[in-house]
Amino acid sequence: MVVIRGATTLEQDEKEEIRRAVAELLEQIANRNSLKKDEIVSIVFSSTSDIHSYYPAKAAREAGFDGCSLFSAQEPDIEGGLVLCIRVMLFVEKDMKPHHVYLRGAKVLRKDLSDIINVAIDGPAGSGKSTVAKRVARDYHILYLDTGAMYRACALKALEARADLENETALMDIFRDMQLGVVYEDGVQKTMLDGRDVSEEIRRPEISTAASVVSKHPSVRMHMVEKQREIAGKNSCVLDGRDIGTVVLPDADFKFFLTATPEVRAKRRYDELVAKGHSVDFEELKREIVRRDDRDSTRAFAPLKKADDAIEVDTTGMTIDEVVAFVKSKMQERI
Ligand code: C5P
Repeated sequence: MVVIRGATTLEQDEKEEIRRAVAELLEQIANRNSLKKDEIVSIVFSSTSDIHSYYPAKAAREAGFDGCSLFSAQEPDIEGGLVLCIRVMLFVEKDMKPHHVYLRGAKVLRKDLSDIINVAIDGPAGSGKSTVAKRVARDYHILYLDTGAMYRACALKALEARADLENETALMDIFRDMQLGVVYEDGVQKTMLDGRDVSEEIRRPEISTAASVVSKHPSVRMHMVEKQREIAGKNSCVLDGRDIGTVVLPDADFKFFLTATPEVRAKRRYDELVAKGHSVDFEELKREIVRRDDRDSTRAFAPLKKADDAIEVDTTGMTIDEVVAFVKSKMQERI
């Protein structure tokens, strides 16, 4: 008798989604282990306590795994555990080395079987990176790291200290002792500067410009890149920025480079700022975005650039849902 383990995650607690996820998981386990259905003696499921809409065991029977004993149970609610997760154990009458199968967000459960996944999403301002990165991270139950927020926090610190943004040495004197923290509350990233939540403040337009100036200095970048690599080395995550695929994580598992026309990018930023109650001049915002992209792309050290192996997505005529679906479809081809 051999025991094969597996797990997957759902996008939502919904009957059809549970049926799809269970069928996908069992089929992949059967394929990877060259199993015939009559070799399976029993299948035991456990699902996290946020799954109520259907019995995984019933979904298994409906997917054709009906010749064995089936059982589903619910797990206790463990703080910090995966959400919407179905785990499975198959007892098989066969002499073989089992291949365990962990899909979707559940990959993070077995780092020995499925390594940490890092997804790099780079591109210019307003190309949709952060919205797409947040959604992909949420759907795969992995972290989202907004690296731009780190440079923005540096810019805020420098402006508050009235530092000369062109003076790399003076900036580093300030940044060396700065407490820059990235914390997560309900999966949402909060940027903490010296113990203060600056998540909202750093979105101001003058901070965007200052971030683009301070981030051109190599020692500032290396200081930030070190922190970014540390987080990415310990967690599966989606990182968005300018240099993730080229410098921060040249070996990232997935790399995307999002683009869009300056007009469309400026319009997205404009709508975002107006929705937050800021008053902005569209033409000025567009000029500022173009200037910022130009500064980001032409700096000598770690410029905004598509990695050779990144998949380029022109999001100009696409909705966010379409971009997210495309990115996930490219990832699904390989995970
Ligand atoms: O992405 P976001 O607009 O928040 O980034 C603000 C600025 O921070 C960018 O214009 C860029 O100059 C800098 N940045 C960077 N490298 C990153 C992320 C952001 O240089 N990985």
